[in-house]
Amino acid sequence: MEKLRQTMERLRSELRYHNYRYYVLDQPSISDQEYDQLLHKLIELETKYPELITADSPSQRVGHEPSAGFSTVTHAEPLLSLSNAFTREDLLAFLARVKRQSPLPVSYVCELKIDGLAVSLDFEDGVFVRGATRGDGEEGEDITANIRTIRSLPLRLNKKASINVRGEVYIDQEDFKNLNQKRAEKGESLFANARNAAAGSLRQLDPKITATRPLQIFIYAIGGGASGEYATQGDALEYIQELGLRTNSHYQVCRQEEEVLEFIEKWEEKRSELPYEIDGVVVKVNELGTQLALGATSRSPRWAIAYKFPAEQVVTKVLSIEIQVGRTGALTPLAVLEPVFVAGSKVSRATLHNEDIIKERDIRLGDYVVLQKAGDVIPEIVRSLPERRDGSETPFQMPSSCPSCGSKVVRLQGEAVTRCVNGQCPAQLVERLVHFASKGALDIEGLGPANVAQLVAAELVQNPADFYSLEKKDLLGLDRFGTRSAENLLGAISRSKEQPLSRVIFALGIRFVGAEVAREIAKYAGSMDNLIKMSAAELLEIPSVGEKIARSVSDYFQDPENRKLIKALKRAGLEMSGGPSPHPARILAGLTFVITGRLSRFTREEAQELLRAWGANVTANVSRRTGYLVAGEGGGSKLDRALELGIPVLSEDEFQEFLQERGVKLD
Ligand code: NAD
Repeated sequence: MEKLRQTMERLRSELRYHNYRYYVLDQPSISDQEYDQLLHKLIELETKYPELITADSPSQRVGHEPSAGFSTVTHAEPLLSLSNAFTREDLLAFLARVKRQSPLPVSYVCELKIDGLAVSLDFEDGVFVRGATRGDGEEGEDITANIRTIRSLPLRLNKKASINVRGEVYIDQEDFKNLNQKRAEKGESLFANARNAAAGSLRQLDPKITATRPLQIFIYAIGGGASGEYATQGDALEYIQELGLRTNSHYQVCRQEEEVLEFIEKWEEKRSELPYEIDGVVVKVNELGTQLALGATSRSPRWAIAYKFPAEQVVTKVLSIEIQVGRTGALTPLAVLEPVFVAGSKVSRATLHNEDIIKERDIRLGDYVVLQKAGDVIPEIVRSLPERRDGSETPFQMPSSCPSCGSKVVRLQGEAVTRCVNGQCPAQLVERLVHFASKGALDIEGLGPANVAQLVAAELVQNPADFYSLEKKDLLGLDRFGTRSAENLLGAISRSKEQPLSRVIFALGIRFVGAEVAREIAKYAGSMDNLIKMSAAELLEIPSVGEKIARSVSDYFQDPENRKLIKALKRAGLEMSGGPSPHPARILAGLTFVITGRLSRFTREEAQELLRAWGANVTANVSRRTGYLVAGEGGGSKLDRALELGIPVLSEDEFQEFLQERGVKLD
């Protein structure tokens, strides 16, 4: 029992320390999730051993005592915390308990849980007279002067009411980012998140500083229970608005439990669309009379619960940093993390992109870091926590040679990426081959990184075309291959020959050519033969192909090695045409036309379409790069310009002849 008492006391002092950092210094050093876990552990033990509960336990009180710099305000009615629900079950248990204990039928109000800090405001005869923080719930800090600087708070109400209201002071995400950026520029310490920035700004001893901070406020409650004006929380919110105070409009009165669940689900999905952070939904009993009947514990009311969304930011540790060599030779540092749950999924790795980002965010091996994953976004390390270092952490150093082939790596001036430029580098080859067989490309099941690495190591495969000459006996010599799995893989390889041209183009791994662009290219070129012949200028004609892509594609096909590969893939039987080809031959490829004046045989648009369909380029203005000007009746300045530059001019008849001579069908 003594040991247990000691464990609990240790937990309590740890929680007190974190409360101090969070509520007084506005500088937490652990994530909210870690804090909640510690508190949960303590409450679990206290529930099991109620005789060991102490009156000063953090489980029994709210927040932290007011700090000495401010004078204190005693709240007429305590400002409490909220109990939490982390799962659907927790929430359903709360709803069931409320129903059981309520004397009358209940409805609920669901409100967004704004991630800021609670304040209590007093108005006398409609005039703002006092503002206080929550403090320890009983006594808060007098921050009247600071509250006055919040522009979205009217200092005079629409009615001459004497009233106490509660609300949340917060900072919009965008404003938070700007604020931190300015602080970084000045070399000042950064706020961990928007909530801490709001708290740190509001609790300034000098209100002039507060006035420079982009603080905002939502009011969500009236102190003192029901009155003649309102008997429910829903009515109270309307009354607050009538007074001229700012409420959050996204609340909903729910009569059914399902509506509560739907509201939560909806906002869990849409939270990232809001300009400010929310960390959950507060579900409150709507009827103020019932709220009074249900009462409160020393920490939180029994008539409300905060449903917390899974954390989108957590703290974890960098165990090591690995280097991945991509298919273009880029060396990407990858953090191996102590596994954590973030935004509902387990994460144990996060890309660190490049050397500069690691330096900028000062991420060292062994560091505790803030990991972020919002919704479906890829996990990202936002920053390190230098205050948690113990001296054993080591700065990261980009290797000077490729971890796969050992050749020297290069980092070009002005580029952030370090590359292995050895075209024969096995790691690059494996990545290229894995990409070729990947789901969006030729979709060959069984050619993941492990098997491809084996095939490369056994020198069975040196380029993607080699997959198609693999035989069963080759595979049987490898690890994890039996007759059945070998046959399956050969079957999958053979089936991949039927994949459409667009996937073959994507599978080649041409720089900047993603699946979508590959589809556009395939549609336009119609066949691999046409594509190989297209110049960068012609490629530019394709919607969604810009200069960078056009150059990359044309460079790719000019490389004799790549042409050899295409030939080999063709021999292997891959689909090299497909998708509607606009014309069997792009007879006019490489020619640029300008059309001016009125034509009689076709409209200008029809002529343009025809030229483009046969591979020509049509531009609006005459320049030195124009090949021909087609001049219909009434051509003016363009004609003059063409004559000036010595560009051949074709009349409509000459234009028709020109087309027919080259085999363009006019029908
Ligand atoms: P809470 O934030 O979980 O819930 C209560 C608060 O919700 C209220 O005081 C109010 O400010 C706010 N709120 C927002 N919208 C509201 C609405 N519409 N209606 C009513 N209230 C609304 O509880 P808490 O006691 O303020 O703080 C606990 C939180 O602080 C936890 O998330 C905990 O993880 C975190 N914390 C973290 C550390 C740390 O070191 N990281 C330390 C202490 C506390």
